[in-house]
Amino acid sequence: MSKATIATAQLSSCVGCHVSLLDLHERLLDLLEDAIEIDYCYVLVDQKEIPEHVDVAVIEGSIRNEEDLEVAEELREAANIVVAVGTCACYGGVHGLANLYHIDDVLEWVFKETPTTDDEGETPEEVVPEIFDYVRPLPEVIDVDYMLPGCPPKPESIAEVITAIIEDRQPKLPTTNLCEECPREKEDIPIEDIKFRTGQGRPDPDKCLLEQGYPCMGPATVAGCEAACPSRGLPCRGCNGPTKQALDQGAASLDAIASVSFETGVDVEEILKGLVDLPGKLYMFSMAASLLKGHRDVIFGSKGE
Ligand code: SF4
Ligand code: SF4
Ligand code: SF4
Repeated sequence: MSKATIATAQLSSCVGCHVSLLDLHERLLDLLEDAIEIDYCYVLVDQKEIPEHVDVAVIEGSIRNEEDLEVAEELREAANIVVAVGTCACYGGVHGLANLYHIDDVLEWVFKETPTTDDEGETPEEVVPEIFDYVRPLPEVIDVDYMLPGCPPKPESIAEVITAIIEDRQPKLPTTNLCEECPREKEDIPIEDIKFRTGQGRPDPDKCLLEQGYPCMGPATVAGCEAACPSRGLPCRGCNGPTKQALDQGAASLDAIASVSFETGVDVEEILKGLVDLPGKLYMFSMAASLLKGHRDVIFGSKGE
């Protein structure tokens, strides 16, 4: 049987999903020996041009600039199957939060105003791709055949998707929400007070964090990480992206918090006050894929005020 040819690419992102691919270690060598040939992958192969044809394109990162768009379109043209790997590719990722700001303000901050900027700083204008006003997830610009969210996805999940494609079957990936794999006990008890910070108080080690007042996004987040954060005492921040049922991850999380708070007699205003930085808390990974996509013109009006 001939091997499946693979190309991988990094768009706007942190390279963490490629590191997760490399974290397959010997398993990657087995795949290379038996089933796949990697034709284009800047962390593994010295090949500068995207091949004209590959069986599978694995794409990390979101669409932030003209070059991201060109690479995504070229790979869509070249590949039979496109896999969006990681929450940046699937839902925009953390930098999707920049959609709440005017791009001029983002550039001003990044190149001139950060505490580490020397002198006056300078925004590069030559030999750099045109930057877009908004971050977009991959499925907004090209057809995507498989989505594998996670920040980053686990190495075994990447291997499972690639293997399933080669074996012409559906990948076995979780579809339930995170609470289903969380070991913490849920007792359907209402929130009595919201915790302002993760480190506030000492959570009971066995009970649901949300029911103890820690804003945990488990109910609106797809499983797949074995509830890595709640298992260690931290509320889930939603990095696996939304479940299929959650149309909008942030809104669904707020809904879950409201449901647990209902009928407690707790002042809703108090609960909302506890949720400082609502966009950062509820949309840290999925702002660009939310119903309003974080577009400041839509949220704040055309003047962006
Ligand atoms: S999904 Fe997470 S790990 Fe992957 S590129 Fe984006 S920020 Fe990095
Ligand atoms: S809300 Fe969070 S802590 Fe509670 S069961 Fe779900 S994932 Fe676990
Ligand atoms: S628990 Fe939530 S934030 Fe932590 S790794 Fe899993 S999905 Fe990401």
